[in-house]
Amino acid sequence: MTKIFCIANQKGGVGKTTTTVNLAASLAKLGQRVLLIDLDPQGNATMGSGVDKHSLPSTIYHVLLGLKPISAAIVQPPEVGYSLLAANRDLAGAEIELVDLERREYRLKDALLEVQHQYDYILIDCPPSLSMLTLNGLCSAGGVIIPMQCEYFALEGLSDLVNTIRSLHAHLNPDLKIICLLRVMFDMRITLQQQVSDQLKAHFGDKVFDTVIPRNVRLAEAPSYGLPGVIYDASSRGAKAYLDFASELIHKKL
Ligand code: ADP
Ligand code: MG
Repeated sequence: MTKIFCIANQKGGVGKTTTTVNLAASLAKLGQRVLLIDLDPQGNATMGSGVDKHSLPSTIYHVLLGLKPISAAIVQPPEVGYSLLAANRDLAGAEIELVDLERREYRLKDALLEVQHQYDYILIDCPPSLSMLTLNGLCSAGGVIIPMQCEYFALEGLSDLVNTIRSLHAHLNPDLKIICLLRVMFDMRITLQQQVSDQLKAHFGDKVFDTVIPRNVRLAEAPSYGLPGVIYDASSRGAKAYLDFASELIHKKL
């Protein structure tokens, strides 16, 4: 069965895109068939997969609006090992255009039916808001992966996201659940981060995965080379952590 996960957190700059591209590349390295869906008009996951977002005839925008079949919009970036449904600025307009369409929250879910059997994992990189785009992601998925930095306000933001997921579970997508909280940009030496990490474990138990992603400059450099960190420098601490995370995800009973 294909596992479809959203990587979501309504805060920006918390490591959603870094997690999506590195998890996709790590799962691919471990032999899984992966589709990455860029659902953010910024197109960072697209560029970070080595695809020029400005020169694409078809993107997720065309798929959501029913202008192209999804199979015609998926591309195979040469080096990353996974397939990509790309995004660019066009997608910002979809937000408004979707409102008048039927099954507006389920456009992505419906489109995926055509191709999902070809993949073991489909990972959706969500924008930092609860928009119609994010709703499409969350209505397509069986689970949410929440990357978070262990900072003071992180827990506050998290309760909003958890409430949103609960409400979606009740009203729009009964399959939706939290798969994992992933601690990212983590620095052991910072006491506050340890404390927040302990609080997280107290609240969420084994939803907090054992793997921790350290702050690592190689992960931050990689997108400017159009590569996920795990491919740009496979020997870096960040790359090893994302590979560990992928294998934890594969082996965890979800
Ligand atoms: P989001 O998609 O949530 O907005 P990004 O994945 O784009 O967040 O990350 C925000 C910034 O932090 C980017 O510049 C990225 O390169 C950097 N970053 C993300 N994870 C790490 C990490 N583990 N170590 C160092 N820098 C990171
Ligand atoms: Mg992002």
